[in-house]
Amino acid sequence: MIDVGSAVEFTDPHIGRVVVPAADLQCRVRELGEAITADYAKRPPLLVGVLKGACFFLSDLARAIRLPIEMDFMAVSSYGSATHTSGVVRIVKDLDADLTDRHVIIVEDIVDSGLTLSYLRRNLAARHPASLEVVALLVKEGLQSAELDLAYVGFRIPPEFVIGYGLDAAERYRNLPFVAAYVEGVPPGTTTTLEQP
Ligand code: 5GP
Repeated sequence: MIDVGSAVEFTDPHIGRVVVPAADLQCRVRELGEAITADYAKRPPLLVGVLKGACFFLSDLARAIRLPIEMDFMAVSSYGSATHTSGVVRIVKDLDADLTDRHVIIVEDIVDSGLTLSYLRRNLAARHPASLEVVALLVKEGLQSAELDLAYVGFRIPPEFVIGYGLDAAERYRNLPFVAAYVEGVPPGTTTTLEQP
């Protein structure tokens, strides 16, 4: 896990208010790792990371699980570079692993409408895993049309577009160590300085 120090500065007008500080992310990811370690002690899981957004979450979470886990990745496309869901989910990269009789945990960055997750769950369930659960780092409050049955949730956040800790806006900002609101429509030349709490 990275040490982001106390005053990392980011000067970009698109980076808005911090929604989840880096220290809270690291702390919660450790707790999720401990919970998974306890729940899967007798059946080490296969973590399925959903690229690209879950990349940092999965790598931190995997190191917080004290079991001989395996990891695999899949890439789906549901957003393009816009900030609103298209409702269309497409597998861009499929898994290498055979899921038959495996204890699978889908590692999702963020659940917005829940369309991506419903699709993934149906798709992976059809591959006959022994069990299939979901860990989602962020869940936007009040936007999911159906009950999604999430075994592990990091944070419930307000329904706004966020960036950082793997989440992008047009492929940028994934490397921010915290999660922040994305500010749209900032006039060119505007600068703000954000001090990492
Ligand atoms: P859903 O299908 O639940 O509406 O959307 C899930 C996917 O959309 C996530 O895996 C993520 O890739 C993207 N997404 C949803 N909300 C946000 C957000 O606030 N910020 C970013 N960067 N991506 C989001």
